[in-house]
Amino acid sequence: MSDKLISIVIPVYNEEKQIYKNIEIISKILTKNGINHEFILVDDGSRDNTWKELKRLSLNLTGVYAVKLSRNFGKEAALCAGLENVSGDACVVMDSDLQHPPEKIPEMFSLWLDEGFDIVECVKTSRGKESLTYKLSSLLFYSMLKKLSGFDFGGASDFKLLDKKVVDAWKEMRERNTFFRGMSTWVGYKKTQIPFVVADRLDGNSKWSPLRLIKLAINAMTSFSSLPLYIVTFLGVLFLLGAIPLGIESLYMYFKGHAVNGFTTVNLLLLIIGSILMISLGIIGSYIAKIYDEVKQRPRYLVSERLDSRVRNAYSKLSND
Ligand code: UDP
Ligand code: MG
Repeated sequence: MSDKLISIVIPVYNEEKQIYKNIEIISKILTKNGINHEFILVDDGSRDNTWKELKRLSLNLTGVYAVKLSRNFGKEAALCAGLENVSGDACVVMDSDLQHPPEKIPEMFSLWLDEGFDIVECVKTSRGKESLTYKLSSLLFYSMLKKLSGFDFGGASDFKLLDKKVVDAWKEMRERNTFFRGMSTWVGYKKTQIPFVVADRLDGNSKWSPLRLIKLAINAMTSFSSLPLYIVTFLGVLFLLGAIPLGIESLYMYFKGHAVNGFTTVNLLLLIIGSILMISLGIIGSYIAKIYDEVKQRPRYLVSERLDSRVRNAYSKLSND
């Protein structure tokens, strides 16, 4: 067994039926492969018995650290809570529903340990069961984000291994609204990708509503690019260029005494410019909203309870030594 410790960070939200079983499965796979590990589980304000299950888990399994957030803060905040508490030499971030196959962890581990990669990303080759609209909107989202930010997040998932120094770098990023996928690409470092097939969810449904996904998409775009703001300026210039000949024509008509004509043109111009102005205001508004959110400096999440069975793990490690 390698003496390196891997922290497995898992956000958990309303997963009472499968969380215990799933952690056991992951733990078994890691132990079988001789990977020394601890679990950092974040209960994202579940309303079912998830926390009870985590308690049961921490009684029966050593090396479990669990925090319960005071309410549902969303997966991104839950990931922050997890990452801020890792103590291993590297950490693996994954979902609690086994859609991120734990069998991949040994491969990620050896890429990190033997080949010295700081970030090992698992890239979706197939997206599992998803509706066509979901697939299309995700395609649209990633291609827009790539154009806007210059980073390619396509196929990116939250299933990653990060070296301790990457986690430390990530901690330096102080924004309130986080986008984990983007931030772990932004930091750089030596990285590699391995493909994986998204497994089907065993129990329950995806916790993401369309509204939540739209919010995440807007947050991602405004966090990683200020290009939309420049597009506003660009549109302004474009309209100015169009306005010059039209203005000259209007003046010409006025002096010739034909100024009453052209009502349709005025109507169209009003409608087009009106809508573009409103969209532009909206874009600027979304950045201002973001600034407002950030300057409030609120905590990303609040913790209401903690469980720790890592101490026992530390003792057993000592006694092994
Ligand atoms: N999750 C969370 N908070 C939320 C929603 C989801 O912590 O508000 C967790 C959830 O328990 C799971 C992971 O995030 O471990 C991914 O969620 P889900 O499987 O619902 O999303 P999908 O697989 O559709 O991306
Ligand atoms: Mg899932």
